[in-house]
Amino acid sequence: MLGSGRWHAEQAWLGHRSENVLIDVTSGRIEAVTAGVTPAPHDAVVLKGWTVPGFANVHSHAFQRLLRGEIESGGGDFWEWRDRMYSFAEWDPADYFNHGRLVFREMVEAGITAVGEFHYLHGHGNELGEALIDAAREEGIRITLIDACYLRGGLDGRPLGPEQMSFSDGDADSWARRMDQLHESDGARLAAAIHSVRAVDPESMRIVATYARERHFPLHVHLAEQQAEVDECISVEGCTPTELLEREGVLGPDLTAVHAIHLTDHDISLLGANEVSICACSTTERDLADRVGPLHALAAAGCALNVGSDSNALIDMLEEARGLELDQRRATGRRVLHQPEDLLRAATVNGMRALGWESGELKPGMLADFVTLEQPRGPWRELSPSYLVYGFSGRDVTNVVVGGETVVRR
Ligand SMILES: [Zn+2]
Repeated sequence: MLGSGRWHAEQAWLGHRSENVLIDVTSGRIEAVTAGVTPAPHDAVVLKGWTVPGFANVHSHAFQRLLRGEIESGGGDFWEWRDRMYSFAEWDPADYFNHGRLVFREMVEAGITAVGEFHYLHGHGNELGEALIDAAREEGIRITLIDACYLRGGLDGRPLGPEQMSFSDGDADSWARRMDQLHESDGARLAAAIHSVRAVDPESMRIVATYARERHFPLHVHLAEQQAEVDECISVEGCTPTELLEREGVLGPDLTAVHAIHLTDHDISLLGANEVSICACSTTERDLADRVGPLHALAAAGCALNVGSDSNALIDMLEEARGLELDQRRATGRRVLHQPEDLLRAATVNGMRALGWESGELKPGMLADFVTLEQPRGPWRELSPSYLVYGFSGRDVTNVVVGGETVVRR
């Protein structure tokens, strides 16, 4: 991802709409962005349509793509879904590499230039995580491998179920020793995760958070997706999951809380005051019958929002971005809780930051990750975040550049 070259975009989003934009790239980074260049220089690749920063998919479990269309009958709730999901969690490294390639190819074709893989399949030590890194490199997508510590079956300290055993390293120190054997490279970063307050005890949470902070790794956690987790936390710890993370010193601007649905007003103010990022996964949350989180209140409190495809029931960051808003409309009876430009930032620069990448904006110094979209039907329109987020889908992506290298060209 150290490509060089020049691209000439018919229209581009530079924080505002611009025309005839020349993007100069050297060794994978944007060197210059110049609007109003006509005609296109003969050595530039011409991008017809709209060019915007690459999309960040902050939360993915690649293996769960196998569930797509497989578990939409039979009824049940989140916990019953989870039991069925566990039956898809056994892989050998070669199969997982091939599967990862398939999932990541679908992502880059939808304009995703960086993915955060929230990874807890440790049955082969680091081999499945390394298979994901290799698969991402093959398909030209950036990956942040968010390796999750997962130690117990619930807040009361109950042991792991048989289908959860392979997720665990035994204890947090062993998790850290295994993490030490993973390595970053040009297109691959590492991050740490506390799987959830269910799966990690308070002392181990502190070990994981300290490990991440000593290395400047992003830190992620599944938070308050289900009311049952909140109720169990209150009964065992005497506080909500957010308050528990605060008590243990886990909250901070380097933390991304995924879902963050069942929150009190106090939780929202804690998350905002600590500038925690919030990852909404609307299409998965719909699929799993999750409720709608207080995303508007979180943003108002100071949280940056981003989005993820999570179970990969669908892979489309524009659908996630508008879902973040549209799900709240039905829950609140109010429209336009978030401005379209803020939704676009959620799908681009906010997500890139949560994954540890200097990307998500078309400006000098940023990584050269950008995507071009063009609708095959419909009248010609001027680029706007509103029309992009509400009128387009990942299927309208025609060209994708990651680190100055073209990875999709239609
Ligand atoms: Zn998840």
